[in-house]
Amino acid sequence: SAPRFDAIVVGAGPAGSVAAYTMASQGMRVALIERGEFPGAKNVFGGVLYRKPLEDILPEFWKEAPLERKVVEQRLWVLGKDSVVSLGYRSARFKEPPNAWTGQRAKFDAWLAGKAERAGAIPIYETVATSLIRDGDKVVGVQTDREEGDLYASVVIIADGVNSLLAKSLGVHREWKPDQVSLAVKEVLALPKDVIQERFGVEEGEGVTIELIGETCGMAGLGFLYTNQDTLSIGVGVMVSDLQKKKVKPYQVLDSIKQHPEIQRLIAGGETKEYAAHLIPEGGFDAMPPLSGDGWMICGDAAQMVNAAHREGTDLAMLSGRLAGETAVACHATGDWSAGGLGAYTQAVKESIIHRDLKKYRGLHSLLSGPQAELLFGALPQALNDAAYEMLSVDGESKRDKQKRAAALLREAAGGTAGLIGIGWRGWRAMN
Ligand code: FAD
Repeated sequence: SAPRFDAIVVGAGPAGSVAAYTMASQGMRVALIERGEFPGAKNVFGGVLYRKPLEDILPEFWKEAPLERKVVEQRLWVLGKDSVVSLGYRSARFKEPPNAWTGQRAKFDAWLAGKAERAGAIPIYETVATSLIRDGDKVVGVQTDREEGDLYASVVIIADGVNSLLAKSLGVHREWKPDQVSLAVKEVLALPKDVIQERFGVEEGEGVTIELIGETCGMAGLGFLYTNQDTLSIGVGVMVSDLQKKKVKPYQVLDSIKQHPEIQRLIAGGETKEYAAHLIPEGGFDAMPPLSGDGWMICGDAAQMVNAAHREGTDLAMLSGRLAGETAVACHATGDWSAGGLGAYTQAVKESIIHRDLKKYRGLHSLLSGPQAELLFGALPQALNDAAYEMLSVDGESKRDKQKRAAALLREAAGGTAGLIGIGWRGWRAMN
């Protein structure tokens, strides 16, 4: 007869592996299905990994996990054509304990899934979960692409990422709309360790993140440049609806960023090691599907749990994986796997920062998919750079006149004072 588990987890990304670890370490019989040759094989992120969500489950995990550099400085660069307005924060407090690290998914995901395996989860890799098996409304297992590949369980945890075939098959969400996802491209460039440390002004094991606004052909999107041990990760994510409208390819946007003189200086000589593309869920709070039902729960990207304003996705995925795992442990004890019993997961997410943060930024989606996006990501970054040039160049003109000219540049870019106030107000509202 077909194999039976207490729980099946689909997807060994951060969400799925944490869910599997949480349940297996409490003695549950867990299957962890992953389509990749190994967990992380094809996974892509920027990427910054945060300490908190994993530390709650695996204390001091960073002493053994394959991580790149601890992030001691975070910069925000607003790019103009040949200039940059920058804001940054560097702190010794980020060193011990670190707040975040840069990482590579192929290594990190494989390590994290290994933790779940050692806790007792049964790895079923190179296997695609093709659909859910139902008994009436109840989900009772998954079909896989293996011969005689049906697996049964009391609960299926759907952690199969942004394209979530299984959530779609449940009917809880359809294809994401083009303004609910951005398409990101990323390149990994090899450079010697000491060159990276010198260019970014950091010591051995320490790193810098730079988020980039501007030079995205006027489209809603953010670029990034992160330091790894002996590579740099550079990439950009742009809303799919914008790419369709402007008929621009994402690699063209990345090329435009890479050609910026200030970026050139940092990446010069870097040899391309990898090139990848991936979707990022950016629909926010209003795009989240129902999270649980009879025999199922959904975690991470499959449920749009990404806080794009703070480039947080892996942390929310791991937190949701833990909450789903803990709910399953409780249901295993009572034997209640009904929609009511598993509803405790939906409730736990509601009480967590996943719900609270995504709700706070609820308005961001309409700001980024609306007409003002072109202004925010095109005209305004350039105007800010021009205004800074005005203010900082000493050319015999009075400061009052300079100030007026700088303000006029910003007003002009925003289509007048009302436009500038409007965009400021909408921006503030979107974040609050
Ligand atoms: P995933 O990591 O997508 O894992 C899903 C897993 O399921 C994969 O291993 C996949 O192979 C597997 N799978 C899918 N379908 C099936 C199937 N049918 N059967 C079997 N297996 C299946 N987040 C951050 O925290 N920090 C960052 O700096 C950051 N930067 C990013 C930059 C880019 C370019 C991108 C694309 C994302 C970034 N994110 C970042 C977001 C982050 O990567 C995601 O939020 C996170 O990976 C979600 O984890 P997950 O486990 O839900 O999904």
